[in-house]
Amino acid sequence: MKKYDVIIIGAGPAGIITGTTAKKAYPGKTMLMFKEEEKGLVPCGIPYIFHSLNGVEQNMMGPKPFIDLGGEVLTDRVVNVDVKNSTLQTVSGQEFGFDKLVFATGSKVMVPEFIPGYNLQNVFYIKKSYNYINHLFEELKTKKDIVIIGGGFIGAEVAEQLALNPGKNITLVESEEFCFSKAFSRDLSAIATKALSDTKVKVLTSTRVEKVIGENGIVSSVALNTGEIISCDAVIMAIGYRPNSELAKKAGLELNKRGAIKVDNYERTEIQNICAVGDCSQTTGFLTGRSDTVLLASTATAEARVLGHNLFGVKIRKTFNGTIAVFSTEINGLAMAAAGVNESNAAAANIKIVSAMFSDFDTHPAAFKDTSALTLKLYASPCDGSILGGEVWGSKTAGEIINTISLAIQKGVSVFELISFQIGSHPLLTSAPTKTILIKAAEKIIDINENNKSC
Ligand SMILES: Cc1cc2nc3c(=O)[nH]c(=O)nc-3n(C[C@H](O)[C@H](O)[C@H](O)COP(=O)(O)OP(=O)(O)OC[C@H]3O[C@@H](n4cnc5c(N)ncnc54)[C@H](O)[C@@H]3O)c2cc1C
Repeated sequence: MKKYDVIIIGAGPAGIITGTTAKKAYPGKTMLMFKEEEKGLVPCGIPYIFHSLNGVEQNMMGPKPFIDLGGEVLTDRVVNVDVKNSTLQTVSGQEFGFDKLVFATGSKVMVPEFIPGYNLQNVFYIKKSYNYINHLFEELKTKKDIVIIGGGFIGAEVAEQLALNPGKNITLVESEEFCFSKAFSRDLSAIATKALSDTKVKVLTSTRVEKVIGENGIVSSVALNTGEIISCDAVIMAIGYRPNSELAKKAGLELNKRGAIKVDNYERTEIQNICAVGDCSQTTGFLTGRSDTVLLASTATAEARVLGHNLFGVKIRKTFNGTIAVFSTEINGLAMAAAGVNESNAAAANIKIVSAMFSDFDTHPAAFKDTSALTLKLYASPCDGSILGGEVWGSKTAGEIINTISLAIQKGVSVFELISFQIGSHPLLTSAPTKTILIKAAEKIIDINENNKSC
């Protein structure tokens, strides 16, 4: 039996970044990574396979950086882990020993068994699998009427992309009043839903699919709670993902009530030398301090860097405790991003907030022909002015502004500190230094709070 210093199960973003970080930090250690399929996909790029990237080949990702550093990779599924003897077995019948084991087994699609007809032919999922998505891409070429169930990021992005292909009728069904409502405030969810409705996608909100109907075992329509029947030749279920933790559970690791592997702030489980990282491991809200489920590649890779550096003893103290959850997307040319709290999730977690909004353009003057509007809603604590969240929408710059806000949340920056925030500005690249949206929104919060202390 061959033995490695480190074995990583999974070659998604969490596995790859754990592997490359650890191999750089501990070059002398032997490391092996398992993956299930020969080829891998950039998971976040999957929606764009269906139009912008036109196929899987432009969206590939793999553990080459880990191999380049001397790591070994095997395509074989791990089916059993013996934590007592520090060994594991694969589906092909091989056995390996380890000193340290990392579960990076990710997440799996939720299958809505409560919807009758969920298992008919031509009911599909957005699985993070090269083979499955390649097959789906080919299958959907011949499908004209497609119903997508679920208006979160993934359902909405896939719907938008599919609808860009000529001759397709795409209907998206969302049970909440707005799409994106798990990630955005009510206001931004409404804006995002409108952006999607302005495309060729027919968006039905506050509506549920009660049943998927088939003829000869093949999807033919869906029945809605409104009584309407929509004919279709394919259904895509996009109702969410759950931690892939069965293997860990079987090995005796403790799971939280959401099915994620319990870990500490360094991604270590309670069993000596066994760690878990990424979608399969638990997350705790940075601001709420409560257990939550955030399944994001950005979160997974941050956890993986922390684990990779500290695998053989804490070298770099993890400087954040909890997940901020930074979402971003673009629908019909409108970029939208959010980090931390907003009105909806702050109320749910009983966190006091004060907010202010400021809009400008992403160039100055705004007369340039490719200028775009940019709006920020900033959320701060009325008690100490610390920045607790933000939502930005408009031009593509939103994607990086939200990252600045995330850093501000993580570092506990206050609106008062933003008064001396030193920014760079250029007519073609940024809004005017006289009205930088982050600073202007912070000033507004200071004004509001001085007149109406709500702490
Ligand atoms: C369509 C889509 C769009 C997304 N867009 C974004 C986005 O824009 N931004 C963002 O931050 N996040 C996005 N996400 C979420 C992001 O993809 C996940 O959070 C991320 O993939 C998690 O990485 P991971 O490595 O933890 O898990 P995964 O990516 O799920 O990888 C786990 C890997 O482990 C392998 N594995 C599992 N069990 C075994 C086993 N027993 N043996 C061997 N291998 C095994 C699996 O095959 C898989 O390759 C998106 C997700 C999807 C599906």
